[in-house]
Amino acid sequence: MKDLIRVDELSIGFGLKNWVIPAVEGVSFSVKPGETLGIVGESGSGKSLSARAILGLVPPGGLITSGSISYQPESGDAVDITSLPKNGRAIRKLRGAEIAMIFQEPMASLSPVHTIGNQIVTTLRQHADLSAAAALSRAIELLDQVGMASPAIIAGQYAHQLSGGMRQRAMIAMALSCSPRLLVCDEPTTALDATTEAQVVELLMKLQQDFNMGMIFISHNIGLVSEIADRVMVMYLGQSIESGATEHVLKSPAHPYTRALLNALPAFAEAGAELATLQGAVPDLTARPTGCSFHPRCAEFAGPQCETERPAIQVVTNQHLARCHLHE
Ligand code: SF4
Repeated sequence: MKDLIRVDELSIGFGLKNWVIPAVEGVSFSVKPGETLGIVGESGSGKSLSARAILGLVPPGGLITSGSISYQPESGDAVDITSLPKNGRAIRKLRGAEIAMIFQEPMASLSPVHTIGNQIVTTLRQHADLSAAAALSRAIELLDQVGMASPAIIAGQYAHQLSGGMRQRAMIAMALSCSPRLLVCDEPTTALDATTEAQVVELLMKLQQDFNMGMIFISHNIGLVSEIADRVMVMYLGQSIESGATEHVLKSPAHPYTRALLNALPAFAEAGAELATLQGAVPDLTARPTGCSFHPRCAEFAGPQCETERPAIQVVTNQHLARCHLHE
């Protein structure tokens, strides 16, 4: 099966006069239809920026410095999204109709002055030749599909009248309104309580199967990602530092950072062992450590080489990769 999206050696930086600060460096990943890739990392790891680039949504000041993002439409040749003019017709056509995104905060994408139904109707009619009545009926159907009780009533309500979980469902309905082939979910459950989070994750997994969508699920929570993703990519300070099938990465994490993230979770820590806490924070992009970017926080520091030489990606086992001198 062909990849739906293939990101190759993508690098993104932020320009300061004559200087570009790298924020994403040489990241590669791919997603097939019906597959979920989980991207994990702390704030500042570059995970959201990498995913937003797929929709041509690199924020002002940011620029793609190298690499490609190849999207395979249902028919015809693949399109390199990095070559499309920003906010041009081609990228706008892909956004929403083929690739959709949901965010952590639904209020950022829901209008406070239009009813939920009207917003879905507007999106539907932008991408499909539907009468107002047919679009409204489809909007109600979508609200039903995302598990809203009384979808016809919800369609007539405003975002502020809904709970956090309901707003998230409304945003998912809006994202699905044009049957996208790829759904990018950026921390979609971070603002929700544990029960609502579990419901939204279950809903996303069901919808992915119903629509046979490819999905990219971004989170700082490796435990959550492990429940939903077929493959995982762990990012640190703009680089992919480990990637592979979820079961391989969880059973045999190859990078000290991934091990630290897992050891902080009760479900993954060794029986009887005290939960570990990862010391320190991701450094600022302008203060990138020399050698391995993770070395100031690494509990498995392997010697002077870690401070001076940037580790290259190593193959740990079949399709399980890690960027660490321990595997050389
Ligand atoms: Fe730790 Fe060295 Fe591996 Fe970096 S390269 S993660 S500092 S052991």
